[in-house]
Amino acid sequence: MTHALREALSSLSLIDHPRLILNIPASQDKGLSIVSSPTTGRPIAAVRLDDERSYEETLGRSVAAFRKWREVPAPIRGQVVRAIGDEFRTHKDALGAIITAEVGKITSEARGEVQETIDIADFAVGLSRQLYGLTMPSERPGHAMREQWLPLGPVGVISAFNFPNAVWAWNAMLAAVCGDSVVWKPSLLAPIIAIASNTLAQRVASRFGHEDLFTLVMGSDQVIGERFIADKRLPLISATGSCRMGRRVGEVVSKRLGRSLLELGGNNAAIVHEDADLDLAARAIVFAAVGTCGQRCTTTRRLIAHESIVDQLLAKLTKAYQSVKIGDPAQDGTLVGPLVNARAVEGFEQAIAAAKQQGGTVLVGGSRAPVTGLTGHFVQPTIIRAPANNQLPIAREETFAPILYVFTYRDIDDAIAMQNGVDQGLSSCIFTRDAGIAERFLSPAGSGSDCGIANVNLGTSGAEIGGAFGGEKDTGGGRESGSDSWKAYMRRQTCTINFSGKLELAQGIKFE
Ligand code: NAD
Repeated sequence: MTHALREALSSLSLIDHPRLILNIPASQDKGLSIVSSPTTGRPIAAVRLDDERSYEETLGRSVAAFRKWREVPAPIRGQVVRAIGDEFRTHKDALGAIITAEVGKITSEARGEVQETIDIADFAVGLSRQLYGLTMPSERPGHAMREQWLPLGPVGVISAFNFPNAVWAWNAMLAAVCGDSVVWKPSLLAPIIAIASNTLAQRVASRFGHEDLFTLVMGSDQVIGERFIADKRLPLISATGSCRMGRRVGEVVSKRLGRSLLELGGNNAAIVHEDADLDLAARAIVFAAVGTCGQRCTTTRRLIAHESIVDQLLAKLTKAYQSVKIGDPAQDGTLVGPLVNARAVEGFEQAIAAAKQQGGTVLVGGSRAPVTGLTGHFVQPTIIRAPANNQLPIAREETFAPILYVFTYRDIDDAIAMQNGVDQGLSSCIFTRDAGIAERFLSPAGSGSDCGIANVNLGTSGAEIGGAFGGEKDTGGGRESGSDSWKAYMRRQTCTINFSGKLELAQGIKFE
């Protein structure tokens, strides 16, 4: 256990949490999962996993909590969520420190993630007075028609390691104002921040008499994960993670005719047109490609640059890449922390080897990045130029590491086709000063970017919570966070009221 982690847990009164074991036992215990630091590669704590009995107990408590919570009027539910947001506000730095210790995010990005939680709580509070349904004119005299949105049930949330706090919050804060309880199954790469976040929310909910509104189950994908997605008591499974995981969740949930909300992998491209502000584009691309050590679903993985400016842009990018400080994510000035584990480093190395074998040229980076005094999973942010024919099959895959593949184009339609020519469809962007080119990229005919997110003159990552977040194709089609994403957490009911005193059938049918 690092000093910073102990301090953060202590400030949250979590040192004695029954799930947390700070002195890791020497002998293997099947009921425990070891958490390792990406910065040192060494174990920092262990967490206690669920077994069949504790899983059942948690689900039972969540169902009971839902039945009670749904009776609370939505604006009052909003007050509870407001108090939860305040709790996260108070403990933003401590929670950020846990994220840094556990997944290696640099301090400012880790705190930024907690800020997302605070923001979505604020958003949800406003929403608690705006869960609007429509009224429709009835075709029958003396009839009224309306639809209403009703609580759905306990919502199952599966989160990825790379946003171990915000992904839960996007789901949990909306679900809570919608009248749902939440059962969270976090990644075993980031269980400590899950324990901390869930406990904070649970403490606040308890103050209002709803102690089991937020619950947690933890265990392997094979045992607890599979049980969770097959569980009919969870009418909605909101799952964030790889496309491989999403295919499995989609299959199991649809088999039981449940609902799934899938937020899966991305393979995001930035198009840089010939008239772009190259300084602005370069700054945006560096953040989007290198930030979080390339471990965001929205990380820019492909650069599609106009052939007339590609060399100039690459010169700027290369210079920036060489000056980026790699190191301890908790230290001021570090911009790139470690990858999450040794497997991620292997994936990085394999992708680079494949790119070289396929004719790609490494322009910058390309190997591990030893950091003095640290034994963690550090790699160099890498730029690889595709061969002149733009054929580089490895770039079609999402490698969760800071690798940017560079392609060139002459015609904007080719650039858009290239950007769309992958299986994933999460985020995209274009840099141009030409409004016509920007609108072509956003074409209302749907012939522009095929992604769920399409930006102009900013990078692919760093979305605000106010918009609906998610992607198309293999990214899963789900939408979370802002706009009308809340509808996924409720069920719609259409109500027709006959106040005419006579029975009249729709479509003019007579049945005397
Ligand atoms: P992962 O797919 O390995 O794991 C994600 C979660 O799914 C974990 O909690 C894991 O335990 C769980 N899981 C896996 N198999 C399961 C099963 N059979 N049943 C139940 N749960 C199961 O992903 P990861 O490595 O943690 O995260 C990185 C991936 O997540 C990347 O592909 C990234 O693009 C994606 N991601 C997407 C978004 C988005 O909003 N689109 C956001 C963050 C991350």
